[in-house]
Amino acid sequence: AAPSAPAAQAAPSRAPCKPAVFVPVDRSPEMQEARLKLPILAEEQVVMEAINENPIVIICGETGSGKTTQVPQFLYEAGYASPGGAIGITEPRRVAAVSMSQRVAKEMNLSHRVVSYQIRYEGNVTDETQIKFMTDGVLLKEIQKDFLLSKYRVIIIDEAHERSMYTDILIGLLSRIVPLRHKKGLPLKLIIMSATLRVEDFTDNTRLFSAKPPVIQVDARQFPVTVHFNKKTPLDDYSGECFRKVCKIHRMLPAGGILVFLTGQAEVHSLCRRLRKAFPYQKNNTAGNATETSDLKLQFYHTLPKIDLNNYSVVPVDEGDEDRDFDSDDDAAGSDLDLDLGDGDSEEDEKSDSSLPLYVLPLYSLLAPEKQEKVFRAPPPGTRLCVVATNVAETSLTIPGIKYVVDCGKVKQRFYDRITGVSSFRVTWISQASANQRAGRAGRTEPGHCYRLYSSAVFMDFEKFSAPEITKRPVEDLILQMKALNIEKVINFPFPTPPSTDALAAAEELLIALGALKEPPQQLAAKLSCPISALGRVMATFPVAPRYAKMLALSRQHNCLPYTITIVSAMTVRELFEELDRPAVSEEEAAQLKRKRVRFSQMQKVWAGQGPMQKLGDLMVMLGAVGACEYAGCTPKFCEENGLRYKAMLEVRRLRGQLTTAVNSVCTDAGLYVDPKMKPPTEAQVTFLRQIVLAGLGDHVARRVQAEELLDDKWKNAYKTALLEDPVFIHPSSVLFRELPEFVVYQEIVETTKLYMKGVSAVEPEWIPALLPPYCHFGKPLESPAPSYCPGTGRVRCHRPSVFYRVGWQLPAVEV
Ligand code: ADP
Ligand code: MG
Repeated sequence: AAPSAPAAQAAPSRAPCKPAVFVPVDRSPEMQEARLKLPILAEEQVVMEAINENPIVIICGETGSGKTTQVPQFLYEAGYASPGGAIGITEPRRVAAVSMSQRVAKEMNLSHRVVSYQIRYEGNVTDETQIKFMTDGVLLKEIQKDFLLSKYRVIIIDEAHERSMYTDILIGLLSRIVPLRHKKGLPLKLIIMSATLRVEDFTDNTRLFSAKPPVIQVDARQFPVTVHFNKKTPLDDYSGECFRKVCKIHRMLPAGGILVFLTGQAEVHSLCRRLRKAFPYQKNNTAGNATETSDLKLQFYHTLPKIDLNNYSVVPVDEGDEDRDFDSDDDAAGSDLDLDLGDGDSEEDEKSDSSLPLYVLPLYSLLAPEKQEKVFRAPPPGTRLCVVATNVAETSLTIPGIKYVVDCGKVKQRFYDRITGVSSFRVTWISQASANQRAGRAGRTEPGHCYRLYSSAVFMDFEKFSAPEITKRPVEDLILQMKALNIEKVINFPFPTPPSTDALAAAEELLIALGALKEPPQQLAAKLSCPISALGRVMATFPVAPRYAKMLALSRQHNCLPYTITIVSAMTVRELFEELDRPAVSEEEAAQLKRKRVRFSQMQKVWAGQGPMQKLGDLMVMLGAVGACEYAGCTPKFCEENGLRYKAMLEVRRLRGQLTTAVNSVCTDAGLYVDPKMKPPTEAQVTFLRQIVLAGLGDHVARRVQAEELLDDKWKNAYKTALLEDPVFIHPSSVLFRELPEFVVYQEIVETTKLYMKGVSAVEPEWIPALLPPYCHFGKPLESPAPSYCPGTGRVRCHRPSVFYRVGWQLPAVEV
């Protein structure tokens, strides 16, 4: 027996891993030529040998070296894919999943039935799919259904350097799945691909991989990029500064595409508008440019999307574009610009043609795919390409022909306040690693220039790398997903970078309070290892945050589900209503905004209803607005007239469809369908909805400050919450602004001039101890009404007084 042992150990790692077949691909000669220029093609053999011989391989290479588009093709040709054993590729961004699947299908001359994608709301996966691009959230959800990922032969985790939360978790999970599959004799290959350095978090993490996986470095042909810093302290008006810089480059510097990095969709559009005005490009009816209209919108009018529960992700729907551009056009002629366009260029510059039209294209993640595709095509002859992009152009997409990069140095990021759960989008400085990535985009095809709109001193103050997402945000949704995978001791999970123990504890506490986890036996050191409850399992199937999932889980009763689904969808899609308080740029706009405000406040009253209906407050307004909008056919015109954001309404519709599918899959007898024009709820249902909302937002209860508690004027009309010391107020845009109910729940607190509650509903105090026992302390049983024995349950029924936790509000006595 002895001699066979070593052989048995060595054999399985090779024999079943290396497919013997070669699958031919019929590429067009142009495609083949384009591929051959990519640095990774030179490394094909090295890459494939490493993959054949190792279960886990890391591939590092500059952005644009061909990792995303080529590695799946290598694997396919080497026979790794079959309809029942696909190659799965995860992307942190939806836009990359869609765009890359289209590109790879085209390069391989294969149909979308074979090279497909799946993102949160949509996909084109079929039984024939062999290469599947998806968002990381989608794969995480699939692991919940099939832990061993038996439908895959290879998993590629792309853009690992972005350190998105789901990517991190996937790497942790796959570090366990790969050996399990090996044991079963069905080996799974894991390939981790990353743009920049710092793969040590993966390679040197012994909790993650017991043996260090091989790292293949792909050297990209990168041309030198001259970096020019601004001398002046950075300006707040970086968007205006971008405009001036692009004008200057276009007027003075030789041919070559320009790529501008801004922070959000609104900024991108506003800069595009200004640039198009400054350098008009007359479209003639050439084939490439005639298709400006978007079919996508028409599609939304007529059909509800097909929804699949697999499409899971809690990625915020809106990028949170708050940016408004107040620039007037007269600063375009500014002459005191501190432009530092590099030595020696200036003579040549003057000679450059300044009358060329500029072919301006926007690029951001929510842009329709057919519009995204434009950046990859050559600009019309006689024009210069200028792409105005958000962060998506940093590493996810490589635009050909860029010679000049204008980097505002900022990025829009979501910030979370651990204590209050307040989240907000803020524009912050990028990291040095990001700045260098952005600069590198200028040197893809020839030497380039990067104009940084900040000084080198500011750059030196940037963080080296931005921190992984998991360390920056609340993790309750993640913990719930992990518990649903029966990972109880999350603290022992091999996170590439673990979240703080505080964040884990806060998440566990919230989940216990929501009833999603079983409460630990008292005082036992079972902290951070509570198992999931039956309710938690139901909650985990809903693709929304745990608070909202709880609301859905409770709504089976009284036919409330369609309403809760709508409310939750509306709350998840941020910024449902148009911002009408914004400063206007012209008198005309000011008058228009005023008309809209009047109209909106009228509509708000209509949607909120009267009497008991109105107590559901802002959530009733959301419900009414969605109902009214759908009733009117959800047209851009209706939205425009009534202060609703058309795009947000479409998102609400999509989410409603998706949540309905999710509910139907949990309770198979619910038989729900989305009725866009849903009937208004009855009074009783509205009361019930208020209770549901309270049960989900338990820690967001606020109580109006009583007359005797009025310490000073700053507490006038204020509310006290359990989470904050400071007074908070009902937001003036709320329908309950003048009502001032004693107890309310709020969706979120935002800080502007004061702390304001948004998404406010009124609740009754006696509901609190009944619906939120984990948040209350209960006193001794009361004498009256007298306790009574309940033969049915064998329990003694009695009423007990209670106080709300932390703040000690006295609540009515209830039977508990
Ligand atoms: P990496 O993943 O290493 O960053 P990619 O595989 O994304 O590199 O890109 C390789 C090349 O393919 C780039 O030069 C890019 O411009 C090109 N490319 C990607 N998508 C498209 C597309 N839709 N149309 C044309 N070229 C594309
Ligand atoms: Mg890539």
